[in-house]
Amino acid sequence: MAYERTLKEVENFVFDLDGTVWQWNRLRHGVEDTIEDLRDRGKDIYFLTNNSLMGREGYAEKLSKLGIDTSPGRVLPVSYIAAEVFDEMDVRRVYTVAEEGFRDELKKRGIEHSEMAQHVVAGVDRNFSYWKAAKAAELIRDGAEFWCTSVDPYWWAGDRLLPGAYSIAENVKLAAGVDTVKVLGKPSEHARQIMKSEWKLMPGNTIVIGDNMRSDMVLGNRMGYMTGLVLGGNSTEEDLNDAGPHEKPNIVFREFERIMMKL
Ligand SMILES: [Mg+2]
Repeated sequence: MAYERTLKEVENFVFDLDGTVWQWNRLRHGVEDTIEDLRDRGKDIYFLTNNSLMGREGYAEKLSKLGIDTSPGRVLPVSYIAAEVFDEMDVRRVYTVAEEGFRDELKKRGIEHSEMAQHVVAGVDRNFSYWKAAKAAELIRDGAEFWCTSVDPYWWAGDRLLPGAYSIAENVKLAAGVDTVKVLGKPSEHARQIMKSEWKLMPGNTIVIGDNMRSDMVLGNRMGYMTGLVLGGNSTEEDLNDAGPHEKPNIVFREFERIMMKL
């Protein structure tokens, strides 16, 4: 209950997208009004997503079209995290098993998709193919470093659960004969560091709200932020009983619109 009292003092609300704010092509019930109410109360809204299909501008545009006006600077997608990580390492060529929007975000930083790369990254790719897996596996066998955008096996699109980045990464892992892959998105150290340097949000007045205990709650808890789990997406009430270290949320919201009831 202590957390419910302090929620009033929270200034920054960081929302996950898939399964929390939207099911890709439509908002979850109550999201538009809740975010408007939060803004009316002077709260700052941010979005952090492991969805790899687009860059910052793409997500800001999609959110605005669905009724939530926001700017690219308030959205931190894994494509941007990847661009930061590779840019910092001075990597200029990456073999991407991902879509155009992901590649475009890398391109802005002078990082090209290439079949001659020392790095391979797997994200959600709705045109994933046998030959893409083959190329990625070949490069990894030749020594390329293997990355994936998230450990999510699936993601919500409308009423469907579609294969996530990790499903694709598993495929490539098997073909390449490796058993590890470096993770770029939540809750990785990369995601935490880039979020920290981008937004500089302070523990004590920030909450991370998402539907996934393994990614959203772990990231938020490790960063010392307050955490809120929205049910009805990735994690269920039963999952709460088996929550591992760092996975437990401070607050559980049965529905998205219940956030306002705690304020
Ligand atoms: Mg989610």
